[in-house]
Amino acid sequence: MSSCLIKRFLCCAVLLSLDAGIALAQNTEAKAPPVIDVHVHAMDGNFPGLAAMCPNSSKFTASDPKEKEEPFGWVKEQCTPALYPSAPGEYMKDVLAEMERLNVTAVVFGDPKSVQKWKDAAPARIIPGTSFQNGMTPGQRVALEELRKDFTNGGYKVMGEIGLQYEGISPSDPSVDAYFALAEELDIPVAVHMGTGGSGRANVTMPKFRGSMGNPLLFEELLARHPKLRLQVMHAGYPMIEEMLTLLQANSHVYVDVAGLIWSYPIKEVNRYIERLVDGGFEDRVMFGTDQLLWPKLMAYSISIIQNADYLTPQQKRDILYNNAARFLRIDTTQGK
Ligand SMILES: [Zn+2]
Repeated sequence: MSSCLIKRFLCCAVLLSLDAGIALAQNTEAKAPPVIDVHVHAMDGNFPGLAAMCPNSSKFTASDPKEKEEPFGWVKEQCTPALYPSAPGEYMKDVLAEMERLNVTAVVFGDPKSVQKWKDAAPARIIPGTSFQNGMTPGQRVALEELRKDFTNGGYKVMGEIGLQYEGISPSDPSVDAYFALAEELDIPVAVHMGTGGSGRANVTMPKFRGSMGNPLLFEELLARHPKLRLQVMHAGYPMIEEMLTLLQANSHVYVDVAGLIWSYPIKEVNRYIERLVDGGFEDRVMFGTDQLLWPKLMAYSISIIQNADYLTPQQKRDILYNNAARFLRIDTTQGK
């Protein structure tokens, strides 16, 4: 996912409201209460030419096919402060320092080599995840037996990020069923990208992406075929709230994460979406996630959105930031609390 995500955010500048970062800063003296981020990408290295970014863009812009079209639709805005990318070669180190400061444990997704680098650097804070998709090239698959080894001997705990929507295919497509069957057999949760993508310009940059393939109800056939499968709907199926609530109602093995959407859409809309999930009765199945990439302070910023949500009780905030993911991932919470 990462190369396209980089493209997605090059030069984008979106409005940032700052009260969040300030509230967060107060918390750093004593050890902050634990947080689980269920959606981080194992990227590292250099991001030349990457501009500062302002989260929670206020709008998307139209483009004209007769003219040169930018690869993203975020309106260009000024914001104070923007989030800045790391210095060359410093990204992983910077994010791990942030995780230490914020007391975050994260599920980190990527190819096994990239994930291992993160795991080696911070063994206690990284829960490794990998998927059957080989990079962003549509249709490329990791061999089933190779993936079986990753999950039986390699220490991988979550199968993701699965981005079939970028290929324009449904998670219930028979061509990928064997992978989900493997996850069910091994009792490994799956994490599937559903909903967001393309930053308002999927038509320009991702010809195979289909908004309709982000419909959470597309999981129904898959879940019926694999009744024990545990599913993390990444990006909470945004913006299909009715379909997302329908799936949550129909299947008690389904959780959502709020990654990506929490900082990449207008703030009023983000809060409304999370509030709908909670008001719908699913406060136990909403998990915190960032889609952490490129900007190390993105994690702190995203946590602050939950911490400052006036529609959530303190208990609901703790559930979203930690307890729900601990239950979903079956983390032993009796130690180290
Ligand atoms: Zn995603």
